[in-house]
Amino acid sequence: MATDRYYVCEKGHKIWAGNLFDCLSDQANDKKHPCDSCSIPTHIELVFDFADGPCLCKVLASFYEIIDWPIEDGKTREFYPFLIVAENVENGEQYVWSPYWHIDRHPNGTIEKRKYGQYATVVNIDSYSRLLEKAKESGYL
Ligand SMILES: [Zn+2]
Repeated sequence: MATDRYYVCEKGHKIWAGNLFDCLSDQANDKKHPCDSCSIPTHIELVFDFADGPCLCKVLASFYEIIDWPIEDGKTREFYPFLIVAENVENGEQYVWSPYWHIDRHPNGTIEKRKYGQYATVVNIDSYSRLLEKAKESGYL
């Protein structure tokens, strides 16, 4: 859903962030991307295409898990579910975005293909919290 992504510094320099998987996994792994122009730390901004127009959001946190299983010819499929906490830069509303990828990896570790999940949800963080609470109250978390 979010296709446009940038590294943005406090001075407002904006740099295209390139590969979305790398951008979000670097954030999760605390890998910094200093500004190309002034070398100060940057944060990630994403553009969500909501029905009422584009929404610019700052990534506050990124988390992911790797779940893998064997597939044909000795290869491994790795599933990467992400949980991204992002904040609307205009009104401060926070969202939970859950993109995901599949990576098929050869036995020697090289990547055969990386496939992006196209139907990730973006949910207001309060609604997301209430969903988790309902699952907890029912004994599932
Ligand atoms: Zn800068």
